[in-house]
Amino acid sequence: MARSSTSVDVAVIGAGPYGLSLAAHLRARGVEHRIFGEPMGPWKTNMPLGMLLKSYPWATSLSDPESEFDLKSFCTERALPYHDELMPLPLSRFIDYGETFQARYVPAVERKTLIALEPGSGVLRATFDDGETVHARRVVVSIGLHPFKRLPQEAAHLPTELCSHSGEYGSLETLDGSEVIVVGSGSSATDLAALIHEKGIAVSLIARRPKLHFADGPRHRSLFARAAAPMSGIGHGWTLATCAKYPQLIRHFSKDLRVRLANHKALGPLGGAFVKDRVVGQVPVRLSQAIRGVETRNGKVVLDLVDSAGARRSMRADHVIFATGYKVDVSRLGFLSQTLLHRMQLVDGAPQLSAHYETTVPGLHFIGPAAANSFGPVCRFVYGTDHPARHLARHLSTVLARVRPALQLRPLDRTVSP
Ligand SMILES: Cc1cc2nc3c(=O)[nH]c(=O)nc-3n(C[C@H](O)[C@H](O)[C@H](O)COP(=O)(O)OP(=O)(O)OC[C@H]3O[C@@H](n4cnc5c(N)ncnc54)[C@H](O)[C@@H]3O)c2cc1C
Repeated sequence: MARSSTSVDVAVIGAGPYGLSLAAHLRARGVEHRIFGEPMGPWKTNMPLGMLLKSYPWATSLSDPESEFDLKSFCTERALPYHDELMPLPLSRFIDYGETFQARYVPAVERKTLIALEPGSGVLRATFDDGETVHARRVVVSIGLHPFKRLPQEAAHLPTELCSHSGEYGSLETLDGSEVIVVGSGSSATDLAALIHEKGIAVSLIARRPKLHFADGPRHRSLFARAAAPMSGIGHGWTLATCAKYPQLIRHFSKDLRVRLANHKALGPLGGAFVKDRVVGQVPVRLSQAIRGVETRNGKVVLDLVDSAGARRSMRADHVIFATGYKVDVSRLGFLSQTLLHRMQLVDGAPQLSAHYETTVPGLHFIGPAAANSFGPVCRFVYGTDHPARHLARHLSTVLARVRPALQLRPLDRTVSP
């Protein structure tokens, strides 16, 4: 393994929508930086092929400095069908858009994994899986949700052949010929159940909730309805609309209120509008089922269930997929040294952030879903990329002494593919 040591002003960890947007703005401002990670990584490997995004196309763009390359421009350039809200956005198209954005605005992504982050003298020391150590004056962590998968305690002992988390599926091939149970009631559960069923694999869906809820499909809304509950990039209603537009306001609220807003009940669990008819009446669904225990018997997994009336039943399958969501908990990030972790003030497992997305460790910033307990629920969506990208790039270009003249930037090559 090559061992080398280098230094940089800003290290961006993560090349999903948040990391790419920030890097595009840093580059335009001439801030010296490097960006690490797999471009659009989890979208390519952790989300099921065939998935439709839940957010509206108009609210699913990355942030570039001139606001010139949103999803609509991408589709127009390629003569792809597009509508702000009447048609769903397929996962494959969003990946294509993200990779094209990366090739144009962030051409130098380094596909390496951060394995250790420690304090150095006046810098942070980031060590990568190829042995390189980077001394960075600022580190911005934008690693998304996938490091924070949540499995129920009862399933912790199960082998991976029998049980998985919904965030482990790109392709569904490993499930061919199996009998599968999906546990959960949100969009991951309903998306997976529909896709598995449509592949001809026997699947049932079980959920603790008494009813499956789906987002409203696109429909005409009267002026009154729009005034009473305006539409925003993250959902209907004045609360979400305010959160979507003014993330910087949220930081001034009490901790309790911020955590409640980050987990706003209108945001889920909720299936996507376009998947409803592919689940209801198609996939066997058992509701109001709580899991009391999980065991293995004769190579199968057996769920011991109890319903709201106290009736018990067991269900068996070859494989159970827990679509039980994510919970940001930075203590689970293997790369963070104990020293950094102890210095970091937390709000319900996520870092407490300053107005500049900085943790209580000087020089260490978090953006994306891990920032939601400080900046509100917009950080959980692609729609939230613009604020940290613009704000943090401006802030870093001001505070870092070694500001370089801004590159005369035009998107590199309109026809380049990644
Ligand atoms: C199933 C599912 C469906 C979703 N659908 C939508 C939707 O329809 N609309 C919407 O707005 N949001 C949706 N979201 C939320 C969405 O995932 C987030 O809004 C968005 O991906 C966050 O972007 P990000 O850049 O923070 O992280 P990600 O897109 O998750 O990217 C993380 C990046 O970090 C890198 N990385 C991770 N660990 C390391 C490491 N140790 N070292 C180096 N690099 C690392 C990865 O390689 C990758 O480049 C969905 C989430 C899930 C789980």
